[in-house]
Amino acid sequence: MQETQGKSLMESMLLRAVRPYKSGQCDGGDTVDILIDRGVISRVGRDIVPPRDIPVVDGGGKLVLPGLVEAHTHLGYSFLGLPWFRNNVGSNLQDKINAEKAEIKRRRIDFQLQAERQLAHSLALGSTFLRGHVSIDTDTGLEPLEGVLRAQEKYKELLEVQIVAFPQAGLTSRPGTIALMEEALSMGADVVGGLDPAQSDRDPKGSLDTVFGLAQKYCKPIDIHLHEPGELGGFSTDLIIERTKSLGLQGRVTISHAFCLGDLKPADIARTLDELAQNQISIMTTAPAGRACPSAAQLVRAGVTVCSGSDGVRDSWSPFSTGDMLERAKLVAMRNNFRRDIDVELALRACTFEGAAALGIADYGVEEGCSANLLVVPGETIAEAVINHPVDRIVIKGGHIVARNGSILENTLFG
Ligand SMILES: [Zn+2]
Repeated sequence: MQETQGKSLMESMLLRAVRPYKSGQCDGGDTVDILIDRGVISRVGRDIVPPRDIPVVDGGGKLVLPGLVEAHTHLGYSFLGLPWFRNNVGSNLQDKINAEKAEIKRRRIDFQLQAERQLAHSLALGSTFLRGHVSIDTDTGLEPLEGVLRAQEKYKELLEVQIVAFPQAGLTSRPGTIALMEEALSMGADVVGGLDPAQSDRDPKGSLDTVFGLAQKYCKPIDIHLHEPGELGGFSTDLIIERTKSLGLQGRVTISHAFCLGDLKPADIARTLDELAQNQISIMTTAPAGRACPSAAQLVRAGVTVCSGSDGVRDSWSPFSTGDMLERAKLVAMRNNFRRDIDVELALRACTFEGAAALGIADYGVEEGCSANLLVVPGETIAEAVINHPVDRIVIKGGHIVARNGSILENTLFG
């Protein structure tokens, strides 16, 4: 392996004997060879004779998936690589926010290092695309963002990272936060974040006008955490739809969590899903246990793009997420009671093709012309790979093997 920092990973190789996963197919295709030319899949077919001097990797008849898409996590505040966080945090939102701040201070968290650890961890498990929210608030200022931006730059050849400027402690309700958000977007944050416009800011119109105003001013997409339940969440969703439509931001808006879609009245859900689909607003669900959440099957039937994510990985909010998007597909399947292969495949789609659509990733897939970001994993069917989410994995980024069996290969990380 070679040093990668500052260099392009665009390499050539032949991946022999693999079965490509296509959206909507449960079994993986026939066994084929995949020729990668300078980071792009140039040929898919049988018995390809490789040009001289390029590496040949035997896929052994395993499945090959496009790189997994981690569509929602938080960067900089993970405790990966640090001692286990003994969670004794109260159940309300303010308890959780306070606990995180106290723990960050107590551990003297290095935001860049923790973001790098998380990116390496995600990549090792097969995610080659990741959207990470970074807290922008008046207590910590822009220090977390500065660290995460450095991590994004360092990993740019290995993972495509989108950074969301996320007003975790409130936007219009916290004087000074809007100015910080502007600075964050000028510094290079890729997406405008938002948070519970009614419950957090207690100012649904003002909060959402600010989020959409920033998106227009800086030409960035939007990703809003919406935890608000039932009719309150439905009301905020309507406001988001109205603004998306009137500003022509179709395809540029994601609502994360959208718990309200799990407990609205059936007639309201049908209307809301229809409008979400018409305005190409994506829904991100972690498929949480223990609370109402959107039905993935219902969303897909309505034509809404559904993606998924780990949310916090090894942080003070929750101990559950491992950052493995194959495992996440299993959790989506379990939460939705998907048992048939055809439904489990739908769960994986949220962590692959649908995630790519939500994040606006081009040239995605295992076909000629797509970027060669791939995950080779054993499984007779897609469902078997998801349910087992085995450690046995080969991760290919830009035609270059970067990880095997859950570990980054030696020297991949900057020599
Ligand atoms: Zn989140």
